[in-house]
Amino acid sequence: MPIKFLCNFFGILSLLAIFIFFGFSNLPSENLEVVFLDVGQGDAIFIRMPQNQKILIDAGPAGEILPPLAEELGFFERKIDLAILTHPDTDHIAGFVEVLKRFEIEKILLTGVQHETEWYREILRQISKKEIPTIIADAQTDFDFGGGVILDIFWPMESLVGKIPADANAASIAARLTFGQTALVLTGDLDVNSEKETLKTSQNLSAQIFKLGHHGAATSNSAEFFAAVNPEIAIVSAGAENKFNHPNPEVLERVKSAEILETAKEGSVKLVSDGVAWRLIEYQ
Ligand SMILES: [Zn+2]
Repeated sequence: MPIKFLCNFFGILSLLAIFIFFGFSNLPSENLEVVFLDVGQGDAIFIRMPQNQKILIDAGPAGEILPPLAEELGFFERKIDLAILTHPDTDHIAGFVEVLKRFEIEKILLTGVQHETEWYREILRQISKKEIPTIIADAQTDFDFGGGVILDIFWPMESLVGKIPADANAASIAARLTFGQTALVLTGDLDVNSEKETLKTSQNLSAQIFKLGHHGAATSNSAEFFAAVNPEIAIVSAGAENKFNHPNPEVLERVKSAEILETAKEGSVKLVSDGVAWRLIEYQ
C-alpha cells in the first residue's frame, strides 16, 4: 500500500490522539478485568474497564478468538470501544477479520506500518469500509477510561505510519495500564533492543502483571526489562507444543521470581483488580 495513502488514511486522527477521554469520571468505579484469552499460538487480551468500556488488544490467529471472546462478552454485547493492533503479524491480527464482521468497533489504535500480507490488507480494507476512526500509536498517546484507569502507550516512541520496519516485532505497540495501585505491562512481541531503548527513558514500567514479550521468546524479555517491571505474575500467551518452542526455557528460568501462568496450560487467564490488588479468577 503506498505511503501517501497510509498518511492520508491515518494522518488526521493521529493529530487528535494525544490524550483521549473515554470515561465519565462522575460514575462509580468498580473493578478492572483483564483476560488473556486462550487463542492458541498468539495474543488476544480482553479488558473490561470499571466503567464498562471494553477493549481488545490483538485478536490472535484466524479461527480462535470468537469462543473465548463470547465467554467474556455474553450474547448481547456487540460493542468494543477500542481495538489495539499491536503489530501486523498474523498470530496477533488475523482474528480481527472475524471480530470486525461480528462486532461494532468504535476506535482502532495501530502503528500504521506497511505490511504486505493478505490478512493485514483485508483488515485495513474493513476498517476503511466501515469508516472506523483510527488512532496512530506513539509514546505521547494516553487513554483515560475514567474511574482512575489510564492506558499509557510507551512504544513506539514516534509514529511509524508508512514505515517498513526491519523487524516487525520491534514495531509492536507496548503499554502500561494502571488502576489505583495496580498495573499491567503489555509489550506485544517487542524485541530486546526496543526494551533497551525503553529503559533509557524515564518510563515507569513497574507492574504486578507482565505479559511476557513475544510469547516468552528469548528475543524479548531481557533480565533488565523484567527487573524494571518486577511483576508478581508473568503471563505466557502461546499454543501448546507450538513449533517455535515458546516459551523459551531460559526465559522461564529468568522470570521465575514471578508466578508463571501459561494460556497453553490454564486456558484463558482472568485477573481482576479493585485498584488495590489483583485477584486470579478461576473459570468454572
Ligand atoms: Zn506473536
